Amino acid sequence: MNSVKIISLPVIDDLGLESLGCDIIITDDNATVADLLTALDEFAGQYLADCKGCDGCCRERAPLIAADIPALASLLPPNDFPAHAVCEAFGELTISKNGATDICFKRDPNSGACCLLDTSNKCCTAHPCRAFVCRSHFCIPRSDILSQLREEIVNTGENELTRLLLAEEANGAAPLNGQKLSALLSPVDYPPNPQSGKKAYQEIIIKETVTPSLWQQIKKEG
Ligand code: SF4
Ligand code: SF4
Repeated sequence: MNSVKIISLPVIDDLGLESLGCDIIITDDNATVADLLTALDEFAGQYLADCKGCDGCCRERAPLIAADIPALASLLPPNDFPAHAVCEAFGELTISKNGATDICFKRDPNSGACCLLDTSNKCCTAHPCRAFVCRSHFCIPRSDILSQLREEIVNTGENELTRLLLAEEANGAAPLNGQKLSALLSPVDYPPNPQSGKKAYQEIIIKETVTPSLWQQIKKEG
């Protein structure tokens, strides 16, 4: 039985109307991000209609994490520097004034559509390889805990992706989109973290990648 459960949560709006939301319970210290994605799929299968005819969330910011890279790299010719290959082909890196990176799917500047969206058919052209952030999105309200969990997994995973890009550059990868990252970022600011070296969602232990205070709120005795 999956140690991660997504449960329905009634949400009352400002008009007093009740609608469906979702919350999370985890019962095992070894639960992984893959378990989370399976639980989200099970919840969607039980409670949500499929997305046919809508591509709303594929026109929003969609950040990438390091564990997304292997599947997305499989869409490209083999490359010694897969993080660079994926980010060059599908990604867009921005660096804020304080040096924080944001690595998202490239989007059409006018429509906001993700570069992997088939806009005519409103479907993802890379569905089996889509990113954690795509797989973990529902357009129903999430509990604060579930939102924070998703955000912490993404933040740590984006930092790990930045660390990987810097490491690949140090090993000879060509500048990403013509930008030499080591001239803009310091590897000291992107040390190894709990998602380092994890090449698949089943390798990322949720307890290790979130803050202790969030884990305390999510973990329930089984
Ligand atoms: S999750 Fe919601 S916004 Fe995204 S495609 Fe499906 S129905 Fe549309
Ligand atoms: S990768 Fe696919 S699912 Fe994710 S935002 Fe792009 S088109 Fe949408």
